[in-house]
Amino acid sequence: MISATEALQRLRDGNRRFVDGDRSVDTMIQARRVDFAARQEPLAVILGCSDSRVPVEVVFDQGFGDLFVIRVAGNIVAPSQIGSVEFAVERLGTRLVVVLGHTRCGAVQATLEDLQQKQSQSWNMNSIVSRIRPSVEGLLATELRRDFNGLVHQAVRANIRASVSHLRHGSQVLEQLIQDGGLHVVGAEYSLETGVVEFLD
Ligand SMILES: [Zn+2]
Repeated sequence: MISATEALQRLRDGNRRFVDGDRSVDTMIQARRVDFAARQEPLAVILGCSDSRVPVEVVFDQGFGDLFVIRVAGNIVAPSQIGSVEFAVERLGTRLVVVLGHTRCGAVQATLEDLQQKQSQSWNMNSIVSRIRPSVEGLLATELRRDFNGLVHQAVRANIRASVSHLRHGSQVLEQLIQDGGLHVVGAEYSLETGVVEFLD
Protein backbone atom coordinates (compact mmCIF):
# COMPACT_ATOMS: atom_id res chain seq x y z
CA MET A 1 0.00 0.00 0.00
CA ILE A 2 1.27 3.47 -0.90
CA SER A 3 0.95 5.86 2.06
CA ALA A 4 -0.80 9.21 1.73
CA THR A 5 2.49 11.01 2.42
CA GLU A 6 4.35 9.16 -0.31
CA ALA A 7 1.47 9.57 -2.76
CA LEU A 8 1.35 13.31 -2.13
CA GLN A 9 5.08 13.60 -2.76
CA ARG A 10 4.76 11.70 -6.05
CA LEU A 11 2.00 14.07 -7.17
CA ARG A 12 4.06 17.13 -6.22
CA ASP A 13 7.09 15.74 -8.07
CA GLY A 14 4.98 14.87 -11.11
CA ASN A 15 3.44 18.32 -11.29
CA ARG A 16 6.91 19.86 -11.07
CA ARG A 17 8.03 17.72 -14.04
CA PHE A 18 4.92 18.83 -15.96
CA VAL A 19 5.58 22.51 -15.25
CA ASP A 20 9.24 22.10 -16.20
CA GLY A 21 8.31 20.42 -19.50
CA ASP A 22 10.06 17.27 -18.34
CA ARG A 23 7.28 14.65 -18.54
CA SER A 24 8.46 11.07 -18.17
CA VAL A 25 5.57 8.62 -18.41
CA ASP A 26 4.67 8.28 -22.09
CA THR A 27 7.32 5.73 -22.97
CA MET A 28 6.16 3.29 -20.28
CA ILE A 29 2.52 2.98 -21.31
CA GLN A 30 2.70 -0.26 -23.35
CA ALA A 31 4.63 -2.17 -20.71
CA ARG A 32 2.39 -1.00 -17.93
CA ARG A 33 -0.80 -1.78 -19.84
CA VAL A 34 0.16 -5.46 -19.82
CA ASP A 35 1.43 -5.35 -16.26
CA PHE A 36 -1.82 -3.84 -14.95
CA ALA A 37 -4.27 -5.96 -16.94
CA ALA A 38 -5.25 -8.05 -13.91
CA ARG A 39 -4.64 -5.69 -10.99
CA GLN A 40 -4.41 -2.06 -10.03
CA GLU A 41 -2.91 -0.10 -7.18
CA PRO A 42 -3.50 3.58 -7.92
CA LEU A 43 -1.49 5.89 -5.71
CA ALA A 44 -4.25 8.49 -5.43
CA VAL A 45 -7.90 9.18 -6.11
CA ILE A 46 -8.40 12.49 -7.91
CA LEU A 47 -11.81 14.15 -7.97
CA GLY A 48 -11.29 16.70 -10.71
CA CYS A 49 -13.30 18.98 -12.97
CA SER A 50 -14.28 17.83 -16.47
CA ASP A 51 -12.62 20.92 -17.96
CA SER A 52 -10.60 19.92 -21.05
CA ARG A 53 -7.66 22.00 -19.88
CA VAL A 54 -7.12 19.96 -16.70
CA PRO A 55 -6.22 16.43 -17.89
CA VAL A 56 -5.34 14.88 -14.57
CA GLU A 57 -2.71 12.31 -15.57
CA VAL A 58 -0.96 14.94 -17.67
CA VAL A 59 -0.74 17.69 -15.06
CA PHE A 60 0.59 15.22 -12.46
CA ASP A 61 2.82 13.43 -14.99
CA GLN A 62 1.35 10.05 -14.06
CA GLY A 63 0.67 7.09 -16.30
CA PHE A 64 -1.22 3.87 -16.71
CA GLY A 65 -2.60 2.56 -13.43
CA ASP A 66 -1.35 5.47 -11.33
CA LEU A 67 -4.50 7.51 -10.68
CA PHE A 68 -8.13 6.64 -9.96
CA VAL A 69 -9.84 9.60 -11.58
CA ILE A 70 -13.37 10.91 -11.11
CA ARG A 71 -14.19 13.93 -13.26
CA VAL A 72 -17.35 15.98 -13.09
CA ALA A 73 -18.00 19.62 -13.88
CA GLY A 74 -17.14 21.72 -10.85
CA ASN A 75 -15.55 18.76 -9.00
CA ILE A 76 -18.74 18.43 -7.01
CA VAL A 77 -19.52 15.68 -4.53
CA ALA A 78 -22.78 13.79 -5.14
CA PRO A 79 -23.51 10.23 -3.94
CA SER A 80 -22.00 8.61 -7.05
CA GLN A 81 -18.71 10.45 -6.48
CA ILE A 82 -18.62 9.35 -2.84
CA GLY A 83 -19.33 5.78 -3.94
CA SER A 84 -16.45 5.91 -6.42
CA VAL A 85 -14.07 7.15 -3.74
CA GLU A 86 -15.26 4.46 -1.32
CA PHE A 87 -14.58 1.82 -3.99
CA ALA A 88 -11.01 2.99 -4.48
CA VAL A 89 -10.09 3.28 -0.82
CA GLU A 90 -11.81 0.06 0.28
CA ARG A 91 -11.09 -2.28 -2.62
CA LEU A 92 -7.85 -0.87 -3.97
CA GLY A 93 -6.29 0.43 -0.76
CA THR A 94 -5.66 3.96 -2.03
CA ARG A 95 -4.86 6.28 0.87
CA LEU A 96 -4.81 9.74 -0.72
CA VAL A 97 -7.84 11.54 -2.13
CA VAL A 98 -7.32 14.91 -3.84
CA VAL A 99 -10.13 17.27 -4.80
CA LEU A 100 -8.61 19.14 -7.74
CA GLY A 101 -10.31 22.40 -8.68
CA HIS A 102 -8.87 24.95 -11.05
CA THR A 103 -8.74 28.67 -11.77
CA ARG A 104 -11.50 30.16 -13.97
CA CYS A 105 -13.74 27.12 -13.45
CA GLY A 106 -16.77 27.44 -15.75
CA ALA A 107 -19.08 25.54 -13.39
CA VAL A 108 -18.22 27.91 -10.56
CA GLN A 109 -18.67 30.92 -12.85
CA ALA A 110 -22.05 29.58 -13.99
CA THR A 111 -23.11 29.25 -10.35
CA LEU A 112 -22.12 32.86 -9.62
CA GLU A 113 -23.96 34.07 -12.72
CA ASP A 114 -27.00 32.08 -11.65
CA LEU A 115 -26.85 33.67 -8.18
CA GLN A 116 -26.52 37.11 -9.73
CA GLN A 117 -29.49 36.26 -11.97
CA LYS A 118 -27.43 36.84 -15.09
CA GLN A 119 -28.17 33.39 -16.42
CA SER A 120 -30.44 30.53 -15.40
CA GLN A 121 -29.55 26.87 -15.90
CA SER A 122 -31.35 23.84 -17.26
CA TRP A 123 -32.75 21.38 -14.73
CA ASN A 124 -29.80 19.04 -15.29
CA MET A 125 -27.16 21.72 -15.04
CA ASN A 126 -28.89 22.95 -11.95
CA SER A 127 -28.03 19.63 -10.29
CA ILE A 128 -24.40 20.77 -10.47
CA VAL A 129 -24.96 24.46 -9.72
CA SER A 130 -27.08 23.64 -6.67
CA ARG A 131 -24.17 21.70 -5.16
CA ILE A 132 -21.75 24.58 -5.67
CA ARG A 133 -24.15 27.32 -4.59
CA PRO A 134 -24.06 26.84 -0.76
CA SER A 135 -20.29 27.25 -0.55
CA VAL A 136 -20.09 30.38 -2.72
CA GLU A 137 -23.26 32.40 -2.16
CA GLY A 138 -21.89 33.98 1.03
CA LEU A 139 -19.16 35.64 -1.03
CA LEU A 140 -21.75 37.71 -2.85
CA ALA A 141 -22.52 39.49 0.40
CA THR A 142 -18.95 40.79 0.56
CA GLU A 143 -17.11 43.50 -1.37
CA LEU A 144 -16.00 40.81 -3.81
CA ARG A 145 -19.34 41.11 -5.63
CA ARG A 146 -17.92 44.18 -7.38
CA ASP A 147 -14.90 42.25 -8.68
CA PHE A 148 -15.98 39.22 -10.73
CA ASN A 149 -12.45 37.81 -11.21
CA GLY A 150 -11.68 38.09 -7.51
CA LEU A 151 -15.04 36.56 -6.76
CA VAL A 152 -14.38 33.57 -9.02
CA HIS A 153 -10.93 33.10 -7.47
CA GLN A 154 -12.35 32.89 -3.95
CA ALA A 155 -15.37 30.87 -5.05
CA VAL A 156 -13.19 28.20 -6.71
CA ARG A 157 -11.31 27.72 -3.44
CA ALA A 158 -14.49 27.71 -1.36
CA ASN A 159 -15.94 25.05 -3.67
CA ILE A 160 -12.82 22.87 -3.37
CA ARG A 161 -12.94 23.12 0.42
CA ALA A 162 -16.66 22.25 0.42
CA SER A 163 -16.02 19.11 -1.66
CA VAL A 164 -13.19 18.10 0.68
CA SER A 165 -15.51 18.57 3.65
CA HIS A 166 -18.28 16.55 1.99
CA LEU A 167 -15.91 13.67 1.36
CA ARG A 168 -14.48 13.82 4.88
CA HIS A 169 -17.88 13.89 6.58
CA GLY A 170 -20.38 12.53 4.06
CA SER A 171 -19.43 8.87 4.36
CA GLN A 172 -19.00 6.61 7.37
CA VAL A 173 -16.56 4.48 5.39
CA LEU A 174 -14.30 7.43 4.62
CA GLU A 175 -14.64 8.96 8.08
CA GLN A 176 -13.56 5.70 9.70
CA LEU A 177 -10.56 5.32 7.40
CA ILE A 178 -9.52 8.92 8.07
CA GLN A 179 -9.68 8.24 11.82
CA ASP A 180 -7.73 5.01 11.91
CA GLY A 181 -6.77 3.90 8.42
CA GLY A 182 -4.29 6.51 7.27
CA LEU A 183 -6.64 8.03 4.68
CA HIS A 184 -6.05 11.68 3.77
CA VAL A 185 -8.47 13.88 1.83
CA VAL A 186 -6.93 17.15 0.63
CA GLY A 187 -7.86 20.01 -1.66
CA ALA A 188 -5.75 21.44 -4.47
CA GLU A 189 -6.07 24.12 -7.12
CA TYR A 190 -4.61 23.84 -10.62
CA SER A 191 -3.63 27.11 -12.27
CA LEU A 192 -4.58 27.27 -15.96
CA GLU A 193 -2.09 30.09 -16.28
CA THR A 194 1.03 28.47 -14.80
CA GLY A 195 0.30 24.72 -14.74
CA VAL A 196 1.14 24.63 -11.04
CA VAL A 197 -0.99 22.61 -8.62
CA GLU A 198 -1.19 24.28 -5.23
CA PHE A 199 -2.25 22.03 -2.35
CA LEU A 200 -4.55 23.93 -0.04
CA ASP A 201 -3.90 22.16 3.26
ZN1 LIG B 1 -14.02 23.53 -13.92
